[in-house]
Amino acid sequence: MTTKVEIISVGNELLIGKTLNTNAQWMSRRITSIGLSVTRIIVVGDTVLEISAVLQEALSRNPDFIIATGGLGPTFDDKTLEGLALALDSTLKVDGKALTMVKKKYMSYAEEQGRKEYELTAARVKMATIPTGTEPIPNPVGTAPGVLTKHRNVIIYALPGVPSEMKAIFENSILKVLKASAGDLMFFETSLFVSQIVESEIAPLIDQVMHNSPHIYIKSHPMGTERKPTIELHLTTTAENKETAKKRMEIALSELTSIIQEKGAIINTAKREK
Ligand code: ATP
Repeated sequence: MTTKVEIISVGNELLIGKTLNTNAQWMSRRITSIGLSVTRIIVVGDTVLEISAVLQEALSRNPDFIIATGGLGPTFDDKTLEGLALALDSTLKVDGKALTMVKKKYMSYAEEQGRKEYELTAARVKMATIPTGTEPIPNPVGTAPGVLTKHRNVIIYALPGVPSEMKAIFENSILKVLKASAGDLMFFETSLFVSQIVESEIAPLIDQVMHNSPHIYIKSHPMGTERKPTIELHLTTTAENKETAKKRMEIALSELTSIIQEKGAIINTAKREK
């Protein structure tokens, strides 16, 4: 059984297409590469009720982890923790540990500018105001701490939206927890690039290979044009060790290669950038 992770990306800027959701893409790649499964990616706007609703829906599916990004900052539209409090039926409170983290940051920013004091404004205190029953996570890059809590068996993280901050907290504080829950499972992938065959002709061949190699998942990615089709066949598997994965990949690749060649297609061994 693989460990399931749901990602919730919060931000109106994602819904209006101003910002590309690179956080979800980066996290899902990272999470998959260590042997866990991302089972949902949800994008939601900066609205308390909507954030709370998607959190509750995610909790009802009982994944192992929910990781939210965005909306932890000092501005009025940063609503993630309000949404989390509503979903967990808790209330927001200034947290002592979180406030110390925020104060330390502002002290260090002030010192960098040669000042001995800083102002602890309401907007700054907001970043230390987190739902009761949650814990702050240090943010090594920015100011707003991340937040961690457990609801029934689901571990919930809320991380800042700024990619560098999200990545730093993920690598420093979350990765080891995810790795421990993945156990010995590892993710492996390889690609085959084929030309002179169209996707509709390849589809039944993929079905056949996946039927004979049930641990291998194959996804076709058309890359060329209808006149000059090139298709990437991306093979993935999650296995306990490299040897098992290698063996499974070899069997699937060998069958796939021979049945594709029988159709007159050409296999390009050199890797191509998408
Ligand atoms: P901060 O503490 O800096 O205020 P925050 O948690 O409030 O962070 P947001 O205000 O939601 O984060 O987003 C900050 C910036 O990070 C946005 O302007 C956006 O450009 C970027 N960002 C937010 N979410 C994502 C995402 N899913 N993928 C990529 N970039 C994102």
